[in-house]
Amino acid sequence: MYDVIIIGGGPAGLSAAVYASRFKMKTLLITPVIGGNVNEAFLIENYLGFKSIQGGELAQKFAEHASAYGAEIKTGERVVKIEKANGYFTITTDIGNIYDGKTLILATGLKKRKLGIPGEEEFKGKGVSYCAVCDAFFFRDKVVAVIGGGASAITGALKLAEVAKKVYVIYRRGKENLRAEPIWIERALSNPKIEFIFHTNVKEIRGNESVNCVILDNPYKGNDTLDVEGVFIEIGSIPDLNLPKQVGLETDEDGTIKVNEDCSTNVEGVFAAGDITTGSNRVRQIITAAAEGAIAAISVFMYLKRKGGG
Ligand code: NDP
Repeated sequence: MYDVIIIGGGPAGLSAAVYASRFKMKTLLITPVIGGNVNEAFLIENYLGFKSIQGGELAQKFAEHASAYGAEIKTGERVVKIEKANGYFTITTDIGNIYDGKTLILATGLKKRKLGIPGEEEFKGKGVSYCAVCDAFFFRDKVVAVIGGGASAITGALKLAEVAKKVYVIYRRGKENLRAEPIWIERALSNPKIEFIFHTNVKEIRGNESVNCVILDNPYKGNDTLDVEGVFIEIGSIPDLNLPKQVGLETDEDGTIKVNEDCSTNVEGVFAAGDITTGSNRVRQIITAAAEGAIAAISVFMYLKRKGGG
């Protein structure tokens, strides 16, 4: 019986593991991949203590730190079922392992949003990608398009520009609406390999064996067909409602878990942290996710102490 089971191994979950184990709680963290979406970040330049670090490297540092104080970390497993009985939680994973915990911290983050256009599914892995950082390497000297206007799209374009011949950024609104930090936007706008196409959506992705063009809803330079060999869909992320629903967690209209200031939820014994919550004024940064992980773990400790079981 664990004092706390942390579901998810991004910055929120890993930070919760550090705090929970230092509070001497019997702690288990379960995650398919250590680091979560941090692995997909090109460069991180706003996490205190690291002026500039690659996502994968920071994820590795988080992992080493998270297991340093006795938290048990299981990777390569995904939680598929949560049951509550007699005040305890029973967790089942996709490889059939079962674990019991007195409390839970849900830190499952977000999954990539899909565009839902023709060709997207068909050419997935054949020119369509959701991770510029992971796949840029395959597009050396090629012409590619990035769809979106947030930090993922802009930093993805910068990463791609290191190897590709040309990078189009296709954004549905204007330059003034771009959401990435201005420092990233400036770098992308001044990069000679990157060309922005504003006020435009991609309607369709076409190709034969692999992608060879996208169809635009607003002709660019007189043409609604743009020849590209890669399409990077970087249009943000959405919560996965499966686990929150199983536990009966209250969510808002976007599906994010409603949390109180102490990261508790409407279900006794269940806490939540990171991008999947309404916490931190919905600022979705590594530093805020890590902070919520700490708050959740300390709140679990206080909760168990109140119950006399900590
Ligand atoms: P965001 O939600 O910030 O941005 C999503 C972008 O996709 C928006 O520009 C949005 O357009 C566009 N979009 C959404 N749906 C569609 C659609 N159906 N069709 C076309 N365009 C669409 O997500 P990000 O993943 O970029 O960033 C999430 C968080 O992660 C942010 O807090 C960001 O700062 C952080 N991050 C930090 C990084 C770093 O520091 N290295 C790297 C990546 C992310 P519109 O603007 O019109 O709504």
